[in-house]
Amino acid sequence: MGKIKTAFKVAKVLGGVAGGALAAVAGVAGACAYNASKLEPASPQGAPLDAGGYHADDAAVERFREILRIPTVSRADEAERDDAAFVQMAETLRRLYPHVFAAFDEPLSFDTFGFLMRWRGSDPARTPVLLMAHHDVVPVDGQDWDYPPFEAEIHDGQIWARGALDNKLCLCGCMEAFELLASQGWQPPRDIWFFSSCGEEVRGTAAEEAAQWLNDHGIHPALVLDEGGAIATEVPLNVSEPVAMVGVSEKGYADLTVRAVAPGGHASAPSDNDATRLLVRAVERICANPGAPKLIAPVEAMLQELGARSSFAYRMVFGNMWLFRPVVEQILAGGEETGAMVRSTYALTQLSGSTARNVLPPEATANINMRVAPFETVEEAVARARALAEQVAREAGMPGCITVEIADGVSQEPAPVSPHDDPTFDYVRRCVAGVYPEAGCTPYVQSSCSDARAMNEASEHVYRMAGYIYSKTARELIHAANERIPVADYKRGLEFYVAFVSNLDKLDA
Ligand SMILES: [Zn+2]
Repeated sequence: MGKIKTAFKVAKVLGGVAGGALAAVAGVAGACAYNASKLEPASPQGAPLDAGGYHADDAAVERFREILRIPTVSRADEAERDDAAFVQMAETLRRLYPHVFAAFDEPLSFDTFGFLMRWRGSDPARTPVLLMAHHDVVPVDGQDWDYPPFEAEIHDGQIWARGALDNKLCLCGCMEAFELLASQGWQPPRDIWFFSSCGEEVRGTAAEEAAQWLNDHGIHPALVLDEGGAIATEVPLNVSEPVAMVGVSEKGYADLTVRAVAPGGHASAPSDNDATRLLVRAVERICANPGAPKLIAPVEAMLQELGARSSFAYRMVFGNMWLFRPVVEQILAGGEETGAMVRSTYALTQLSGSTARNVLPPEATANINMRVAPFETVEEAVARARALAEQVAREAGMPGCITVEIADGVSQEPAPVSPHDDPTFDYVRRCVAGVYPEAGCTPYVQSSCSDARAMNEASEHVYRMAGYIYSKTARELIHAANERIPVADYKRGLEFYVAFVSNLDKLDA
């Protein structure tokens, strides 16, 4: 699930910029104030799109609870997976949503329990859309829940269950919308594809296989909608309205193995260039130099949307990025979590040296978990780490003694940035405006990985947003104990999916 909370740490950090910046621009204050007054929240180009009077009933909530009770837990070791639960999931979906499975073509399976299916539209010439979810959940091992995680009990108006926020609500949101419309004899104006992964939480292969299949069959959705962001409440910069956060990209990812080699020996006669000391100097050099920060367009758009809804001081800053951009970049880069929004990051996660306390090892290794900003490539980020390591090696007079390699050869490039200023993005904005008229809507970049990235091969418009309200508490409950969703928020989210599906004739793409 997307780390909207990371994006939100920007709030505190920017509090300082706003004040200091105001003083710094005394000379151009007039122009800046004018720009600040002109900074307004973005609004849709087209008319808001709603659910046509649909309101979810209690039966929809009961269907959701039934899905939540199926313990489709993903395990890193596939042998530990409870296949019976995944079989039960497939059977239960068919029973609960009979019109869906009558209207759609027979599902195609990927990685056994992932499925992709098509609802044929009336006009095959129009480009299709793809909605995505995943029906696996993370384990609850070792967590202390107030109520059982797979009973979906309702307490205090909330449904308590693993998967309530991540991500069975998106699965059921789509299913409810499809079922409603199919039962009314409605036919989509264009093909609707639906994919649900069985292994999103363990980086399973289902999404990649499905994306490959779509590619192989020349199917290129005009729009892909997956989980990621949400209609977030309690957002930063003291914004009081909710804001729909639409993920338009994801950072890249790789683990780096840093290895230093040197003559080993007895710890009674150490040198400055023992493998362990070389290693710590190298990893520190790498982690401290993650490359220059850069505010890319969707991040800037997010700051402007939040700023436009905030105080005059913030509007001064974000309405005058021509002036404040370098300051904002530097300040964001300096924050632990805001830094992740504007640059690649290197996190030192593992170290190993000698197995004995008094022995200098001939080799020491470290793991650096690297996240790559959308404006560079994995190769560039690795090359920077290598150059920094080599600097340390040369300073020691031992060129080549420190190597940096991608662990297991596994890496993922940053996802391409989907447009946030065209009619396709506007369609999402219009649906948000129709169902959540009180909310703003903005693009952002996810620091975490999702299945959606697999679809970038097939589509230029990949958006990551669950159509539900996620409070600050909800965002913190993802993968945690006591995951729960207010019944009212669940019901309202269903309206979003009904609006999204039923208005697809108005998608200008
Ligand atoms: Zn998820």
